[in-house]
Amino acid sequence: MSEIKRNFIGGQWCAAAEASENRSPANPDDLIGLYARGNQADVEAAVAAAKAAQPGWGRGSPQLRSDVLRRAGDLLLARNDALGRLLAREEGKTLAEAKGEALRAAQLFHFYAGEAVRDPGEKLNSIRDGVEVDVMREPLGVVGLITPWNFPIAIPAWKAAPALAAGNAVVMKPADLTPGCAHVLAEVLEEAGCPPGVFNLVMGRGSEIGAALVQTPEVAAISFTGSERVGRGIAAGCAAGMKKVQLEMGGKNPMVVMADADLDIAVNACLNGAFFSTGQRCTASSRLIVEDRIHDAFVEKLAAAMGALRLGDPLEAETQIGPVVSEGQLAGNLDNVRLAGEEGCEVVGGQRLNRPGSFQAPALFVNARNDMRTSREEIFGPCASVIRVADFDEALAVANDTPYGLSSGICTGSLKYATAFRRGSKAGMVMVNLPTAGVDYHVPFGGRGASSLGGREQGRMAMDFYTSVKTAYTFAG
Ligand code: NAD
Repeated sequence: MSEIKRNFIGGQWCAAAEASENRSPANPDDLIGLYARGNQADVEAAVAAAKAAQPGWGRGSPQLRSDVLRRAGDLLLARNDALGRLLAREEGKTLAEAKGEALRAAQLFHFYAGEAVRDPGEKLNSIRDGVEVDVMREPLGVVGLITPWNFPIAIPAWKAAPALAAGNAVVMKPADLTPGCAHVLAEVLEEAGCPPGVFNLVMGRGSEIGAALVQTPEVAAISFTGSERVGRGIAAGCAAGMKKVQLEMGGKNPMVVMADADLDIAVNACLNGAFFSTGQRCTASSRLIVEDRIHDAFVEKLAAAMGALRLGDPLEAETQIGPVVSEGQLAGNLDNVRLAGEEGCEVVGGQRLNRPGSFQAPALFVNARNDMRTSREEIFGPCASVIRVADFDEALAVANDTPYGLSSGICTGSLKYATAFRRGSKAGMVMVNLPTAGVDYHVPFGGRGASSLGGREQGRMAMDFYTSVKTAYTFAG
């Protein structure tokens, strides 16, 4: 029996009463480890430790915060290979994608090491004589960070780094399916010299640990990434407790393909956007909206490229698509494949592979309509609807006809269409001739509608959520 990985509370590695198995979705025999399953008392202890540590961290020199974050970034770089392998094993994305994600986590820590010393305050003269105004930013206090399984190191990093840079103390609750990467992050922050209590990790069930964080009055703010259903409950809980809240949720991201597009660019953008990372990205292109004149040629070429994708063990170099994250997620995907057929789509691919592990062939739902359930609800797997449209105006209308608004894209050779789409798209992120997924760490990430609430993540804008503005007046006499 392997040693149980513990929670990190107040600078101590703390045992929990229960533990969960972390197994690879690519190989049910690959037990990655046993991870502590915390409870309400662990949340209380973590919040108390964070509350005690936060004033010293928040009021201390920004140089200390910057140094800790920079060292954490360095350590993440030094561990890139091992962390990438762990990520590929526990989540199932390919080793190349996993190492890329681990690199991004390091880049985020380095970026926010800079932000820690870049004070965004302002000094103004009042409109009253002899009165000066300072507009200052202060940390919020203790923040709760709740993260999903699909980016198990990048999302913890893009929440924790700005939260810590701004002088907050953190209690992090990672996804139950993928606690391993967040556990490594806690190790890294300890080794980087983060003072005890400033960063705490409590692993366990969302309904228990996540809900306790939302309900605890000493937690000033919650930043959550996950499903819309859970996000809505968190928003309601935070409203009741008058907490600041940030939600990043699902998407049903449109990718428009115009007849004047470069066909190879369009096929590659759709292949990447829809199926890479097994389609398990909130920014995945799940609705391919194709102009009638290019529709059949596009579908033929995309289906051939999709069929040639190499599925397999994420640790093998030639693999392009790994498994679905869990048996539960795979069952949901297969239900959607069935539903797409019942709704009248021609389904290409989508079957479970006859091998151990949770493997599914990528799927296209051809002849889809935008009012079908499979075109409206997030599937979060390697499945994309193909919707035929007559022209640009219909394409833009269909692209915007969704409750979500995270990312969108267009493939076109025309500046006129590209400009009109960038202006008219009701999404937080818009791509021209690029996949809908893949946003740099130094620019704002987020969406509209049912996709996001409460301010952008990443880039400099992330600091807005993790700080509170104070307007201070002085009359010098
Ligand atoms: P999920 O909502 O099931 O879980 C997310 C986190 O919330 C987990 O840590 C979970 O344990 C916790 N949780 C569950 N119930 C809770 C409760 N009652 N109270 C508090 N916390 C609770 O989502 P998931 O399946 O882990 O992730 C997939 C979803 O995440 C997809 O919908 C995807 O679109 C979304 N996502 C969005 C973004 C984005 O930035 N917009 C990025 C990645 C993933």
